[in-house]
Amino acid sequence: MSLRNLSNLGRTLWFRLALWYSAIFAASVFATFFAFYHTIISVVEDREDSDLLSEAKEFSNILASKGVAEVKAAMDIEAESEGVDKIFFRLADLEGQEIASTNMSSWADLGLGKSALKKLAKGDKNIFETIALPGRGYSVRILNTLIGAGVVLQIGLSLEDHERFVAVFKHIFSITMAAMVIIAALVGGGIARWALFGIEKVTATAQEISRGSFDQRVNVKAKVVEIERLARAFNAMLDRIDTLVGGMRDVTDNIAHDLKTPITRIRSSAEMILIGADHPKESISLAMTTLEECDRLLQMVNTILDISEAETGIMKLKRTGLDVSDVMEQVADVYQYVAEDKGIVIHRQYPKGLHVSADQTRLSQAVANLLDNAVKYTPEGNHIYLDAFRNNKEIGITVKDTGRGIPPEDLPRIWDRLYRGDQSRSEKGLGLGLSLVKAVITAHKGRIEVSSEPGKGSTFIMYLPASDMAGIA
Ligand code: ADP
Repeated sequence: MSLRNLSNLGRTLWFRLALWYSAIFAASVFATFFAFYHTIISVVEDREDSDLLSEAKEFSNILASKGVAEVKAAMDIEAESEGVDKIFFRLADLEGQEIASTNMSSWADLGLGKSALKKLAKGDKNIFETIALPGRGYSVRILNTLIGAGVVLQIGLSLEDHERFVAVFKHIFSITMAAMVIIAALVGGGIARWALFGIEKVTATAQEISRGSFDQRVNVKAKVVEIERLARAFNAMLDRIDTLVGGMRDVTDNIAHDLKTPITRIRSSAEMILIGADHPKESISLAMTTLEECDRLLQMVNTILDISEAETGIMKLKRTGLDVSDVMEQVADVYQYVAEDKGIVIHRQYPKGLHVSADQTRLSQAVANLLDNAVKYTPEGNHIYLDAFRNNKEIGITVKDTGRGIPPEDLPRIWDRLYRGDQSRSEKGLGLGLSLVKAVITAHKGRIEVSSEPGKGSTFIMYLPASDMAGIA
C-alpha cells in the first residue's frame, strides 16, 4: 500500500471509528484488569501479613509460658517444616544482639534492620518490610515485632511463589489484552463499515451521476434510519436538479427553435443585398459577413435541435443494415484532402464485414464529427487511425489521433453542450460536435468512450450493437 493510500485510509471515517472503538475498549479492559490485579495482590499480601502476625502471636505465647529455649525449638521445627529457604525466624534484643535463629544459610546477607529496631524501641508494634534480595529473582516479606519484654522476633517469608504467581498473571493478562484489542479492532472495523455502507452507496451513486448518469437514484431502503434519510434527501436533490436541468434544456431548445425564423429572414435580406446591383463595397462586405454569421447561427440552432431530438428520443432514425467500413470510407474520403493539406496521414485500418443497424446519415455525421476534431486538434506531420472491430455483441468504431490530447480536467466536460477546451478556441467550432455524437450514438443504443493524454493524442471509440444482435442481417 502506498503512503498516499495509507494517509487516505487514516482519514476514512470507518478507520477512525474502528481506532476509537478499539482504543476505548483497550483502555476499559486495561482499567478492569488493573483494578482486578491490585485487588488480588492486596488480598494475597494481607493474607501473608496476617499469617506472619499469627505466627508471631504463637511465639509470644510460647515465650510467656515456656521461655526462650522452647521458642527456639519451635522456630526450628516451623522453619524445617516450611523449608529453610522459604522462611526464617530470628530472636534478638532491642540493641540488635542475636539471641537465636533458624538455619540462615539462604538468608546470609539479611541482618536486623536498625530502623525497625528503633521504631520498636519507640513503641511501634509491628514493622513490616519488603526487601529485594540481591542476586535472587524475588523479594522477602519481613515482620519485626516484640514478643516479650525486650525480645524482638524477626520472621522473613520468601515471596518467590507470590512473585511467580504475579508474573504468570501479568503474562496471561498481556496475551488476553492483545487478543481482545485485535478482536475489538476487527469487530469495531466491521461495525463501522456496516454502519457506513449506506453512505458508500450514496457516494457511489454521486460518482455515477458526476459521470453523466443523471437518471440514477439511491436505494432508500437502508437498515439505518439516518442513512435512509440521507438517501431520501439525496434523491430529492437529484429530482430537483433534474427538473432544473430539464427546464434549462427546454429553454435552450425553445430559444433555438424561435431563433430559426428571424435568422433565416436576416440571411435572406443579406442575400438580397448581394444579388442587387450598385451597392457600395462596404455594404457588400457587411452583407457577406452577415450571411456567414447567419449560417453559423443556423448551424448552431440546427445542431442544438438535433441534439435535443436525439436526447429526448424523438429523432427519426432511418435504420438500415450498414457495413461500417463503407460509412468510414466515405467520411475518410471527404477529410482526405483537408488532412493532406495539413500534412496529416489518415490510416484506414477498418476491415469489411462488420454490420450495424443504423441511420446512415446520422452515423456518418458522428464519424465525421470525430474525424473533424481529430484533424482540427492534430498538428502537422501527425497521424490519424480509423479502425473498426467486433467486441462480443458490439461493433467498435475507433478514431485515434496523435494530436495535442485533452487535459484530464476537461475530459468529463467535453460532452457538454457548447463546451470548448481553452486551447481549442483558436480553431473553428461551436462546442456542439461531441454532444451531438454522444446523443446520436445513445439514440442508437450505443455508447462512446474516450481516452486521452495531453501531448500524445486522443482515442474515441463508439460502440454500437452488432446488427445480427439487433436481429438484422
Ligand atoms: P468543438 O467545436 O470545440 O470542436 P466539440 O464538442 O467537438 O466542440 O469538442 C469539445 C472540445 O473537446 C473541443 O473544444 C476540444 O477542446 C476537445 N476535443 C475534442 N476532440 C478532440 C481531439 N481529437 N483532440 C483534442 N481535443 C479534442
